[in-house]
Amino acid sequence: MIEIDEDLCKGCEICVAFCAKDVLEMSDKFNKKGVHPPLVVREEDCNLCGNCMLYCPDLAIVVAEEEESG
Ligand code: SF4
Ligand code: SF4
Repeated sequence: MIEIDEDLCKGCEICVAFCAKDVLEMSDKFNKKGVHPPLVVREEDCNLCGNCMLYCPDLAIVVAEEEESG
């Protein structure tokens, strides 16, 4: 599970650059800061490596394993 707090994002694209799986792309929309936040486009390819979360300078991304339901 990848959660992006879009309004924390400053649009630096580091997360896109550090994802070896091309899971993220910059979106076309603008957040509250007036920049483009990333979008999760291939979540099924995500290996939960955490790079996007670790390298985001603004702590806008959280990566976690799905919680078991039930
Ligand atoms: S956790 Fe790793 S594979 Fe998944 S989106 Fe982030 S950088 Fe890409
Ligand atoms: S690394 Fe963080 S601040 Fe930079 S584009 Fe990605 S989510 Fe936004």
